[in-house]
Amino acid sequence: MAAFFTFMQFSYSALSTAAVCAAALTLSSCNDSKTATAAETSSPTREVMSGTAAVAAEEDSAAAHAAASAGTPAPDPASIPASKIADAATITARPQVPILCYHQIRDWRAKDSKGAKDYIVPVEAFKKQIQMLADSGYHSILPDQLYAYLATGAPLPSKPIMLTFDDTDLDQFTVARPTLEKYGFKAVYFVMTVSLGRPRYMSKAQVKQLSDEGNVIGSHTWDHHNVKKYQGQDWVTQIEKPTKTLEEITGKDIKYFAYPFGLWNPEAIPQLKQRGMVAAFVLAEKRDPQDPLFTIRRIIASGYWSARTLHNSIVQSF
Ligand SMILES: [Zn+2]
Repeated sequence: MAAFFTFMQFSYSALSTAAVCAAALTLSSCNDSKTATAAETSSPTREVMSGTAAVAAEEDSAAAHAAASAGTPAPDPASIPASKIADAATITARPQVPILCYHQIRDWRAKDSKGAKDYIVPVEAFKKQIQMLADSGYHSILPDQLYAYLATGAPLPSKPIMLTFDDTDLDQFTVARPTLEKYGFKAVYFVMTVSLGRPRYMSKAQVKQLSDEGNVIGSHTWDHHNVKKYQGQDWVTQIEKPTKTLEEITGKDIKYFAYPFGLWNPEAIPQLKQRGMVAAFVLAEKRDPQDPLFTIRRIIASGYWSARTLHNSIVQSF
């Protein structure tokens, strides 16, 4: 009992600093922030508009994107015959779809560390990043579409992009959700179930609402422990039970997983497959040539980035 209590206390403190831990562990292997400054000098994709022209253009853009994202739904991965799924080399050779990873969307506070700010995108910066994606003609896609594309070569909308949000932060619901809605974008929310209902995190009802509104809920473990350290019962605690919890909340199968800190090892992949996952997401590291569907790359959209820097990073990183 005492040991259990200590473990819970550890988990609670680990939770509040999850984004910071992510910063410490992944920045060294993620070169995207280094390319940002140089990328800043490249030409912007969007002319600056003002007054009513900008408002009208924004409304047109929002309507166009809402229409474009209402295409035919992708097949469930389980319905795709094994014989139709390409080999690893073919999947790896397909052009990568840009995938962005966000954490907190809020204005910086005095106590936020330099490293943490890569994981905290200020509200106005976030809105400008998303508007840039819409104005640049990007179409948000969801994981079943990505899976069908990678596994079978199914076509995607023009300029596809996937937007993902990790760690269950409440501002993903209160800030990101209405911003994405304005442009008809859908997203993937990778939830760690220990945080559900806590202050500053989303509730079960909010997660269900995101799912009901056509977004996809993925698993991000129970309490954000590093997958590379799991043994025995950890697979049940961190993967199996949280997946069931999310399936109960959403009423849908949970098929996609994001590794905490982007860290994975080959032993994790069969464990994830056994528990219903069909693909998993890392961060900016290289994909595994043996199992590219379980090492799909994402870049962290940094809190330091202007919309222009984000655009250049997307072009350079994928
Ligand atoms: Zn995380």
